Amino acid sequence: MGLMTGKQYRESLNDGREVYIDGEKVKNVADHPAFKPIVDVKARMYDMAFEKELADKLTTTLPDGEVVSRAYKAPESKEDLAAIRKHVETVLDDLGGIVYRVGDETIGEMWSLYDAQDRLNQIDPTYAENIRYHVDRVAREDLFHVSANTDPKGDRSKLFSGKDGGTLLHVVEENDKGIVVKGAKFETAAAYAHQAFVKPTILDWNAGSEKMAPFACGFICDMGSPGLKHICRSPLGLGQNPEDYPVSTKFDEIDTLLIFDNVLIPWENVLFHRSLESAAYIRSTVHRYSAYNYTLRMLRRADYLIGIALLNVEQTGLNQLQAVKEKISQLINYREGINAHLTAAVTEAERSPGGLMMPNQSLLYTGRMFALRNFPAMAHLTRELVGGQLAVTPDTATMADPEIKQYFDQYYAVGEWTPEDRGKLLYFARDLLNSSFAGHLTTFELFAQSPPFAQYAAVFNNFDMEPQRELVRRAAGLKKKEPVVSI
Ligand SMILES: Cc1cc2nc3c(=O)[nH]c(=O)nc-3n(C[C@H](O)[C@H](O)[C@H](O)COP(=O)(O)OP(=O)(O)OC[C@H]3O[C@@H](n4cnc5c(N)ncnc54)[C@H](O)[C@@H]3O)c2cc1C
Repeated sequence: MGLMTGKQYRESLNDGREVYIDGEKVKNVADHPAFKPIVDVKARMYDMAFEKELADKLTTTLPDGEVVSRAYKAPESKEDLAAIRKHVETVLDDLGGIVYRVGDETIGEMWSLYDAQDRLNQIDPTYAENIRYHVDRVAREDLFHVSANTDPKGDRSKLFSGKDGGTLLHVVEENDKGIVVKGAKFETAAAYAHQAFVKPTILDWNAGSEKMAPFACGFICDMGSPGLKHICRSPLGLGQNPEDYPVSTKFDEIDTLLIFDNVLIPWENVLFHRSLESAAYIRSTVHRYSAYNYTLRMLRRADYLIGIALLNVEQTGLNQLQAVKEKISQLINYREGINAHLTAAVTEAERSPGGLMMPNQSLLYTGRMFALRNFPAMAHLTRELVGGQLAVTPDTATMADPEIKQYFDQYYAVGEWTPEDRGKLLYFARDLLNSSFAGHLTTFELFAQSPPFAQYAAVFNNFDMEPQRELVRRAAGLKKKEPVVSI
């Protein structure tokens, strides 16, 4: 198959998928105004790989000569991890904005399961074969692959029982073609993607009972499967002037409540089934690779914060003030803190159980947490540096009104900055910091790679604590003792 073009991608979405948005059933996702901007972004990403000056950064060649996206080749060396970073940076540079769930940030979840092949082999060798097949297939067919982990959970006492056999997604039937599943998942980008890795992530599967078995399944689901319903949230940029809302009119990644109404998953797409052990494994390793691509986006967001703050204070000369320089320094510290974690995670990368090269897990998860936890303070600081004009500046149509234009020339022009250019900078800043879209993005980042408590759990579980214990034992003259486990 090889690399897909933007045109092929757009056409591939017209597969009869059932998509609903704003009270309407969508005929063709690629042409619908709510989806078109982000479909165009993804199509541009596909086309970029064919451009001579970008191809070496965005593609690589498999041993048999097949050219595939750089983002879709599982990392086997530190150089591969560095190339993945280059891929993300090249794409974001070209797009002039940030997109998260566009394939590269979710593909790593399959590599996490690929790492468990030995375990899958013990359960059923077909599952290990299936995961190898899908890791290879997604690259060779250049599929837009996303992730479905979170069920809308509601009442926690009804997860495994009650109406329809429980609220969590589960298998309701097995037949010679495959498994039939029922349930729901939240999933960004599902409506304009090709396939998703669907899996459970909540609960302590290690302490599970047999009644949890139908819920312990993981599979690849085609986004056009019969019975699958995409119920999407309203778009945030639709109807706005792109000059006034330059980010939300282009980069709104629509989220979906995905309903699995008795969806047949063919056996070749089943990655595990009735396996509590596999559910536990994927829950604890799901972001082993993808947290890298995700945190790279947070780094880019930090770059935008610095750029916005700098350009705003430089217009007016406020950048000369020591107090303002200190605030810019805090933004730089934040940016370089994320950068340091990502750089060190590659330098100190580790061989995975499946033989791949994974970013150093402790440095990666602490970097993700550092980026996530400090973002609100950094956004606040940037808002403070931009000043109240972020919120009160009239839009482009008003600025251009001939009757009042003179007032903008009088009160908005500063040095070489025309009112129009100051407006452009402020509209960009507003869409990243103050619009409905900005609020949505903050919530997305808070939850999209699991909620903060789960991210802290990843930090806790991936840090080797024994050296610290041993240091204190030796310094204080203590003997090794078993921890109390009764809480
Ligand atoms: C914009 C957006 C996009 C998303 N995209 C995707 C996607 O593409 N794929 C996907 O699978 N999911 C996606 N999600 C879902 C996301 O992963 C979940 O929102 C997240 O995992 C939290 O689950 P929940 O919303 O059900 O909250 P709940 O599980 O109800 O938790 C709410 C809060 O309760 C507290 N809490 C709950 N349980 C515990 C506990 N055990 N210990 C301590 N505190 C606890 C925490 O404060 C937690 O934040 C998306 C969410 C958003 C907001």
